[in-house]
Amino acid sequence: MIACDICIIGAGVMGASAASEVARCGATVVLIDQAALPNPLAASVDHSKVFRFSYPDPLYVRMAVDALRLWRALEEETETRLLTETGLLLIGRDQPSFETRCRDALRSLDLEAEMLDSDETTQRFPQFDKEAFRYSILDPSGAILHAEKSLRSLIDAARRLGVGVIENERVTEIREGEVITHRGTRVVCGKTMVASGPWTRRLLPELADKLFTTRQEVFYFEPRQSDDYQIGKFPIFIELGSGFYGFPVHHRGAMKIANHNKGELIDADVIDETISEKSIEHCRAFFAEFIPGLASARLRETRVCIYNNTADDDFIIDWHPDLRTVLIATGFSGHGFKFSPLIGRIAADMLTSGTTSYPSDRFSLARFEESGGTIC
Ligand SMILES: Cc1cc2nc3c(=O)[nH]c(=O)nc-3n(C[C@H](O)[C@H](O)[C@H](O)COP(=O)(O)OP(=O)(O)OC[C@H]3O[C@@H](n4cnc5c(N)ncnc54)[C@H](O)[C@@H]3O)c2cc1C
Repeated sequence: MIACDICIIGAGVMGASAASEVARCGATVVLIDQAALPNPLAASVDHSKVFRFSYPDPLYVRMAVDALRLWRALEEETETRLLTETGLLLIGRDQPSFETRCRDALRSLDLEAEMLDSDETTQRFPQFDKEAFRYSILDPSGAILHAEKSLRSLIDAARRLGVGVIENERVTEIREGEVITHRGTRVVCGKTMVASGPWTRRLLPELADKLFTTRQEVFYFEPRQSDDYQIGKFPIFIELGSGFYGFPVHHRGAMKIANHNKGELIDADVIDETISEKSIEHCRAFFAEFIPGLASARLRETRVCIYNNTADDDFIIDWHPDLRTVLIATGFSGHGFKFSPLIGRIAADMLTSGTTSYPSDRFSLARFEESGGTIC
């Protein structure tokens, strides 16, 4: 039997950052993961994730600004560079749209957002085909978050703060004040946090109608004219009409390209890592239309990863409806990484003082009952 104040299940970015934040408050913490850390199948593990202030909702913009301060503090604490600034280009076809709403939300908080027509965009970034879109919004906050490095830094920081880390033990049962693993380890705790990412439907089947997990493919392409796609010359871009987004070259001569549209529904424990020719052709068709210089880029590496989604893409950060000492942080819907140090702080506030300054109703479980917005 192990005793602690707070037991955190899941050492992805959310669990790991919460562990440090709770430990900083003076509580004893145990962090348990089903895999050796970092779990290569965790949603948090990849070379890179997008950081951006651009959101159509000022709440998320404010959260991204607050999260950036915490990322900077972690960089300083760990003497590790976790973000590389690149700028972010939102490519727009129609107005008003997601892109113009992002611009308005940024400006409402006095943050920079430049609107460019297609000529101005391609003067600045000649890699894009100006016939394919009408305008763009340039958000200077766009940056590459070095994902695996960030997760390792968060786990190391938690260990340094005295967090007890248990690897390779899957939590199979959660009761009030008690967590039990598949090996029979019992952790007796004052409070519990569930940060089990795409496996939450399994661990808490009572949430299965509020979450759905989808298979997402990630591609690393090596451009032939590599100089044109380096950081400084090419931004992170998002083209929501097709769902595609991508990065400048940042990993062994390759740039990450992926599609944010929700993929096939899957169980997190049954993941097919085969990438079909059709998927690769889909990327190439996007390049042919928007970034013709990439049409013959060489495919270097692929990954399959899991989104853990809610119906409205808002997160769930709330107490379990029946187990009142169990906090759930899940449903990060393919866009949570950038906020993780802030989610850790919000969770720590809720676990140690019971409150947070962020609007808790927005991330509540009750919202699904009010809107009737459960998944299935
Ligand atoms: C392809 C892809 C691209 C993305 N791109 C971006 C992006 O550009 N920008 C952005 O901000 N966000 C992005 N995201 C979203 C972001 O990565 C996730 O929101 C975030 O990583 C979720 O972290 P997590 O800690 O909740 O889950 P995870 O990282 O999945 O961690 C969950 C952990 O819990 C453990 N676990 C699960 N069940 C148990 C159990 N029963 N017992 C013990 N341990 C358990 C798992 O082993 C795992 O380590 C992307 C996600 C994907 C999949």
